[in-house]
Amino acid sequence: MNIAIILAGGNASRMKAIDVPKQYLMVSDKPVISYCLATFQKHKNIDAIIIVAKEEWHQFLNEWLTKENIHKFKGFAMPGKSRQHSIYNGLCYAKQIVNKEIKEDEIVIIHDAARPLVSERIITDCIHGATTSDGAMPVIKVKDTIYRSLEGKHIEGLLNRDELYAGQAPESFKLNSYLSIHERLSDEEIGAIRGSSEIAYKYGMKIELIEGSEDNFKITTMEDLEKFKLLVGSEEL
Ligand code: C5P
Repeated sequence: MNIAIILAGGNASRMKAIDVPKQYLMVSDKPVISYCLATFQKHKNIDAIIIVAKEEWHQFLNEWLTKENIHKFKGFAMPGKSRQHSIYNGLCYAKQIVNKEIKEDEIVIIHDAARPLVSERIITDCIHGATTSDGAMPVIKVKDTIYRSLEGKHIEGLLNRDELYAGQAPESFKLNSYLSIHERLSDEEIGAIRGSSEIAYKYGMKIELIEGSEDNFKITTMEDLEKFKLLVGSEEL
């Protein structure tokens, strides 16, 4: 079973003057989250969808899920205090869906609701990567030269650009292995995690790099939001 976990538990954005969380902003008459939901719904290898969202958004989301016929939706998990805590809650909900001893071939595909333009190809590659390895992450090659500096004033180290990749979502994992890592960690350790593949790698899971896409960007700033509106041909520019 391949279960998508859509993370929509974040608060209002780093975009000043907007107090609605970015995943719920309306673009071309649809909330940002509905774009990725439609892609996961349509994908033939996705069996179930879980959304991590605050209770105050459940009614709004339920209306959209019905309107857009997202019938793979299986329920809401509660957000945690960090993105990784939200993931943990989503994983526990996924375990309930599987509702039996988790088999090695159960896969979770974890995506950001604020990353609307994920493609069918990326989802396919993620699922495949979690069968040939323990998980997979889309990446794009770093284009700029990256320098290291502790105080941000002088160059203190050089990094080899050919070895650097920027990680995107969705990230896929074997549910059993990934959930059991979380069960062993303390609340603080989970809170300190910055990327979902970080702990997977740290605890010995083999994570495959798959080709990401420039279009698969996360809406973080006003510029990202404008870019997304342009790409979907919104008239509200
Ligand atoms: O804050 P950031 O942009 O990294 O969030 C990425 C995604 O994770 C967003 O879709 C956000 O809603 C979600 N998130 C969450 N729970 C949190 C923090 C972020 O579901 N506690």
